[in-house]
Amino acid sequence: MSDLFIKNVVLENGKNSDILILNGKISDIGPSIKNVSGDIEIVDAKGWLATPPFIDSHFHLDATLSYGMPRVNQSGTLLEGISLWGELKPTVRFDDLVERAETLCRWSIARGTLAIRSHVDVSGNDLIGVEAMLYVKEKLKSYIDIQLVAFPQDGLLRSGCLENLKKALELGVEVVGGIPHFERTMQQGAESIRTLCEIAEKRGLLVDMHCDESDDPLSRHIETLTMETNRVGLNGRVAGSHLTSMHSMDNYYYSKLISLMLEANIGVIANPLINITLQGRHDTYPKRRGLTRVNEQMNEGLDVAFGHDCVMDPWYPLGSHDMLEVANMALHVAHMTGQSEMMDCFRAVTHNPAKIMHLENYGLTKGCSGDLVILQALDPIEALRLKPARLFVIKGGKIISTESPKLSKLKLGEEKFEIDFTKKDFSWKIK
Ligand SMILES: [Zn+2]
Repeated sequence: MSDLFIKNVVLENGKNSDILILNGKISDIGPSIKNVSGDIEIVDAKGWLATPPFIDSHFHLDATLSYGMPRVNQSGTLLEGISLWGELKPTVRFDDLVERAETLCRWSIARGTLAIRSHVDVSGNDLIGVEAMLYVKEKLKSYIDIQLVAFPQDGLLRSGCLENLKKALELGVEVVGGIPHFERTMQQGAESIRTLCEIAEKRGLLVDMHCDESDDPLSRHIETLTMETNRVGLNGRVAGSHLTSMHSMDNYYYSKLISLMLEANIGVIANPLINITLQGRHDTYPKRRGLTRVNEQMNEGLDVAFGHDCVMDPWYPLGSHDMLEVANMALHVAHMTGQSEMMDCFRAVTHNPAKIMHLENYGLTKGCSGDLVILQALDPIEALRLKPARLFVIKGGKIISTESPKLSKLKLGEEKFEIDFTKKDFSWKIK
């Protein structure tokens, strides 16, 4: 735990501020902080934006960076991705899993992401993935918070992995996962939800299920998830990931469903990069986008977060684990280009996932952890537009990553220009 004085930042609300971190916690934040001890390390942020760190609330650290192993996904579909992962799974070794997950976490830190909720497959013959991810979580805990979800990728009942899932929870995995739409029947999907919610309730754990990741408007497991959440008293502790079938549901049914979700206080985790890539694959034209109704859900008062889900794995060939890329995609796909809507998208990779994941001491207020990112941008909307350099990434008052400011130098005849694409470049000072 360290002390650090950060001078001259602009906050998300547009206010200029200094930030004083003592013993790893924010001890003061506000304009022109005085009486800072002389021997404390000082960062001059030069008026750039400071935000709490990014959070990825939906990822798969056990599958990441395996693109092309053993072959690439030719159809681009979710189902070919699942079967490819099934081919790869029996061949992976502990050391490979650790190396890939650690590499990805280093990318995350460099991008300013300091918390990841990662699903880890428990439906194989062993728990090598769980053991590897628990090892990485412990090894990197001073730098990044990893929250693990016991995820029955091949279906809890379909693959018969209940005992494995319970063992994973005993080993230290802290969230109960599920995938009801991948069970053999709707009834088995519902049964899996019932079983998993009861397990979570008994053990005092959170729930996060891959739910209705489908273009089928009749995939309605979210309905059962809300009912079971209420029945066992898990309100506010359950998240539905993906929920893409909601994109295709008719409006009348949606209007019933949204009130059930509010009643159960379900957290929504959409995965814009992956949903826009995997959904609509069976459509001709018009092709559905497949993203759940994020704007409407936010307006109704649900907590909505965005996850990256995949980076270079059987489901997605691209990515560098940049949560600003995720939010940028979301605001395009969801038609959220209004000013307050773009701010909502920024919160969906910062404050909202912190709430869904029950992270403590998150934010830039007095008493919070001294974790933050300084971006080469003047406000959150500019950050979404530019996906700029993460100039400083700070964890518990310690600088753990730096990046040089981006600057292009042009020579056009006799004229020379230096541009960084921010609003500083605008002679007419657009607001
Ligand atoms: Zn996923």
